Amino acid sequence: MSLGTNLGNKEENIICAIESLSRILGNPLAVAPTIETEPWGFQSANTFLNTAVAYETTLGPTELLAATQEVERTLGRTTKSIDGAYSDRPIDIDILLCGNTVITTGELTVPHPLMHKRLFVLQPLAAIAPDALHPLLNKTIAALLEELEAE
Ligand code: ADP
Ligand code: MG
Repeated sequence: MSLGTNLGNKEENIICAIESLSRILGNPLAVAPTIETEPWGFQSANTFLNTAVAYETTLGPTELLAATQEVERTLGRTTKSIDGAYSDRPIDIDILLCGNTVITTGELTVPHPLMHKRLFVLQPLAAIAPDALHPLLNKTIAALLEELEAE
């Protein structure tokens, strides 16, 4: 999962989000160091704090999305991005990969369709899962990060 925040106490938002997720999913397998990044795809004076976290779970994709959205709501996220129009948010939790599973429902797309284009996603993810394979691109996270950094 990718976690991002650019409103309020960002350090605390990340910690609270991981605590809340862990109450549902159990202890994380790994948590990446946070990085500070510029807003991507929209204008804002508020920089982001981003991280990535890995869990092992028996929850299905739909239940997992329900869990992440419940945590987003708990942390005070009230607005949804509509048609790719982004806005400031206390927390955004995106599901990046579920092993080799590929999901395309109206509600959920996994692997996350933009993950390989976003440094703020790949950098933290590469810190915890460099050898994880993107099941559609057939490349490791480390390789995807290297490609994006070379662009
Ligand atoms: P964004 O993350 O692009 O700013 P939101 O967090 O508001 O946008 O999510 C918009 C919708 O994206 C959610 O309601 C959810 O149904 C959908 N979605 C599709 N794929 C994913 C995914 N892999 N992780 C999280 N949300 C997803
Ligand atoms: Mg999101």
